[in-house]
Amino acid sequence: MTTVDDRYTSVALPGDPAFAAATHVFNLAAPAEPAAALTARTVEEVRAAVAHARAEGLPVRVHTTGHGSAASRPMRGSLLIRTDLGGAVEIDAARRVARVPAGTRWGAVVEAAAAHGLTPPHGSSPDVGVVGYLLRGGMSFYSRKVGLAVNGVRAVELVTADGELLRADAVTEPDLFWALRGGGGGFGVVTAIEVDLFPVARVVTGAAFWPAAHASRLLKTWRRWTEDAPWEVATSARIMNLPPLPEVPPVLAAGPVLCVDGVVLIETEGDVPAGRAQADDLLAPLRALADPVMDTWQLTATSGVLEAHMDPSDPVAIIGDHLLLSEIGDDGVDELLRVIGEGSGSPLITAGLRQLGGAYAAPHPGGGALTHFDAAFAYSGAGVPGGDLTTEDIKAHCARVREALTPWDTGRTAPTFVESQDQPQRHLTQAQVEAADAVRRRVDPTALFQADTMLNTTAL
Ligand SMILES: Cc1cc2nc3c(=O)[nH]c(=O)nc-3n(C[C@H](O)[C@H](O)[C@H](O)COP(=O)(O)OP(=O)(O)OC[C@H]3O[C@@H](n4cnc5c(N)ncnc54)[C@H](O)[C@@H]3O)c2cc1C
Repeated sequence: MTTVDDRYTSVALPGDPAFAAATHVFNLAAPAEPAAALTARTVEEVRAAVAHARAEGLPVRVHTTGHGSAASRPMRGSLLIRTDLGGAVEIDAARRVARVPAGTRWGAVVEAAAAHGLTPPHGSSPDVGVVGYLLRGGMSFYSRKVGLAVNGVRAVELVTADGELLRADAVTEPDLFWALRGGGGGFGVVTAIEVDLFPVARVVTGAAFWPAAHASRLLKTWRRWTEDAPWEVATSARIMNLPPLPEVPPVLAAGPVLCVDGVVLIETEGDVPAGRAQADDLLAPLRALADPVMDTWQLTATSGVLEAHMDPSDPVAIIGDHLLLSEIGDDGVDELLRVIGEGSGSPLITAGLRQLGGAYAAPHPGGGALTHFDAAFAYSGAGVPGGDLTTEDIKAHCARVREALTPWDTGRTAPTFVESQDQPQRHLTQAQVEAADAVRRRVDPTALFQADTMLNTTAL
């Protein structure tokens, strides 16, 4: 084993500005509170940090942006390594693969790939970290076409508990490669990842908003459209109660609105007319039911997809809940609107359904621990405490929604959509959990890392 000089490490303690920088999280409702922390900018710094933790007997935790902090295992007593490895996103256009240093956000990969007429299976926000999103599964607006994002991972480079830098792919370390892809984390510190890209000429993307008074007819029309929607099209439909902030158009803050946003994937310029027609099939019946108060759907470049869902870019306290649902039918729409629609008293800033199906549901040959979701919709709802609204108020309302949706609850969950470590979670079967644990014991026999996410509160 190569030795590592532990002088590379500059471990910071609470009160130190470097500790504040390393523990910074996007979700302010779930602060990172380790015993010590550092930001690692090179592979050598990662190795030195792991060696330091081993020598000091400190468990190690890893993060990048803290977008997933509420779903992560508590960090008390640990050494937190924040990964911010330098280096550019490398695009191999011939193989259609991007090599991405840990610490990179999706916006940078979308930009680098766009120059080659390619795009990655990214999520709705440009600021989410590539590694944390992919290792937890990754639900992209393109996933109805290309499958769960983690299925596109080609290789993972990581520093394991013994301080070694490994490359795991389908040929080298195949068991570790299987476990890394959705197996709950805690296998080491990922320093770079390779992910498949796919061709996209253009997209039709955006969001349309209607007063929530029209939500019942609109949502039922949308739901019927989802039953046999083309795989190139993916949408979400949400009730939003947006606050009157400078960045929120006043027309959207005037009262609850129903938002339908999403993407039509257009692979070649020749497919543009077909893509426009697919967007019309979705939107024309909705626009005919009521005039939107705002409508940004348009034919544009792939970067437009990162704005369609209107995710916040500044850190915010988020309290929420998530379920994977079976087909809910019109009865389910009624029940959902009873608890999140107009007059429901819902304090949730956003609550609704992301459309699954298509390639989301297809098992992936050669895939990892998590490859697909057998569900029709991902429900998620979230509020932001402040003013008279407490965390407990939001949690109580989340429980009300959960109860209303019980008839359609599959009992399964998507790791990237889990909103808190307290919520019920079931991502994998018992056999998959045991297989991932066995790999974890092999690569980390002294349990320096442990699983990062509460994998299976209940096994399937
Ligand atoms: C505004 C917003 C929008 C989102 N949109 C989507 C979406 O469209 N689709 C979707 O699927 N999800 C989405 N998510 C969820 C997001 O994908 C997860 O929270 C994801 O885990 C974030 O990864 P991260 O690295 O940015 O976060 P972090 O909180 O930094 O990391 C989360 C976990 O990833 C692991 N990890 C991170 N870096 C490393 C590393 N270098 N080595 C080893 N493990 C590491 C650790 O287990 C860590 O606990 C969104 C979240 C937010 C807040």
